[in-house]
Amino acid sequence: MEKLIVIGAGQAAIQCITSLRKEGYSGSITLVGEENHLPYQRPPLSKGFLSGSTIQDRLYLKKIEFFQENSIQLNLGVKATRIDRNKCIVHLSDKKSIGYDKLVIATGSKVRKLKFPGSELEGIHYLRGIDDAELLKESLVASKSLVIVGAGYIGLEVAAVATEFDTKITVIEMAERVMNRTVDPIISDYYQKLHAKNGVEFILNESIEKVEGKKIVERVLCSSNSSIHADTLVIGAGVTPNVELAEESGLNCENGIWVDEFGQTEDKKIFACGDCTNHPNEKLNRRLRLESVHNAMEQSKTVAYSIMNNRVAYNQVPWFWSDQYDHKLQIVGLSGDYDEVLIRGQQEEQKFMLFYLKEEKLIAVDAINNPKEFLICRKLVENKVKISSDDILNQSKNLNDLII
Ligand SMILES: Cc1cc2nc3c(=O)[nH]c(=O)nc-3n(C[C@H](O)[C@H](O)[C@H](O)COP(=O)(O)OP(=O)(O)OC[C@H]3O[C@@H](n4cnc5c(N)ncnc54)[C@H](O)[C@@H]3O)c2cc1C
Repeated sequence: MEKLIVIGAGQAAIQCITSLRKEGYSGSITLVGEENHLPYQRPPLSKGFLSGSTIQDRLYLKKIEFFQENSIQLNLGVKATRIDRNKCIVHLSDKKSIGYDKLVIATGSKVRKLKFPGSELEGIHYLRGIDDAELLKESLVASKSLVIVGAGYIGLEVAAVATEFDTKITVIEMAERVMNRTVDPIISDYYQKLHAKNGVEFILNESIEKVEGKKIVERVLCSSNSSIHADTLVIGAGVTPNVELAEESGLNCENGIWVDEFGQTEDKKIFACGDCTNHPNEKLNRRLRLESVHNAMEQSKTVAYSIMNNRVAYNQVPWFWSDQYDHKLQIVGLSGDYDEVLIRGQQEEQKFMLFYLKEEKLIAVDAINNPKEFLICRKLVENKVKISSDDILNQSKNLNDLII
């Protein structure tokens, strides 16, 4: 019987083994995950789970019975420490080692930690796992003054949730606007105002220099020497892919584990999927490293098919969402180098969309509170449709008619 090991028990790993069993994979499957929790989804950690509206049970991707019923050998609380590619063995932190015929690396990513004087003080939070979210929730209950470093998705989602607690919120961002890496200034401006309306204050164009306090955080000092009182500090400074294991085994890693369109590394027995990979995308004509549920799920399906010798290239246009207050932001495509942006709908109605065009073709859409039309836009961006400004601006135009 073929022996498969999957390292990392997150979104990508679970999708991969689910697809394998669904497709009739008859080999043995061993799942190795360093966290002590059943595999879970992360998006609610900065949304409903943090606010308390989503209970922990709802986070789990599968119940324990799934692993029993599908003959998955589950090794939780165990870290894969080394891959011996010559002997096809994975060494584990519990001193055991297991052999494989095929191996999937789905190790995800880790938060980027900032170093500054005072970074060892209590009251400083990063958010990646359930345990982080639990600790942050406890701090928010007691907090009177919260500082968030980084106005990306995680920072802003935490800010939105924190407004439900009795704490003063300040967001420090080194760029000139919020979510600057991913959206047009129109969306940044809209979201900054939305947060401001909810009492969140922003300090832009500044970075954190230093934190002061005896044992616990008391003050945050910024690059301009301004000082903010704080009892809780949350840092959302992005993530880096977990590539060390792959790298030490000699696999090519450059901003992620280097895989082809089938999720295969240069070692024919080893595949990788999810946040930890750097993969080609023919539709976008470039290589990508993505941090999203959509990527984790779809690339893992591709890997499952490849393991079953059914090679289907992973070539999807990326999409992502973020929930802040009662606003759902959905983004499809990469808007990076657009040459025109048009608005459909009215900002005052809290329901509008941005269409990003390059050489008159649609390359990306940001939708605010419009999931229905967003679904259609996913197809339009996928097909890179040529779209006229009249069609975008005319809200009575049915976007479905533009699908080719
Ligand atoms: C707070 C938060 C909110 C998010 N919100 C959204 C959102 O709204 N929309 C969206 O699309 N995406 C969101 N994301 C991103 C999304 O959750 C990730 O892209 C997705 O989880 C990636 O799945 P993955 O399986 O590749 O990695 P992960 O989910 O990170 O899973 C990897 C697992 O591998 C384990 N691991 C690593 N190394 C080893 C080892 N050596 N041995 C054993 N185990 C190991 C890790 O501990 C981890 O459990 C959010 C992420 C966070 C943290």
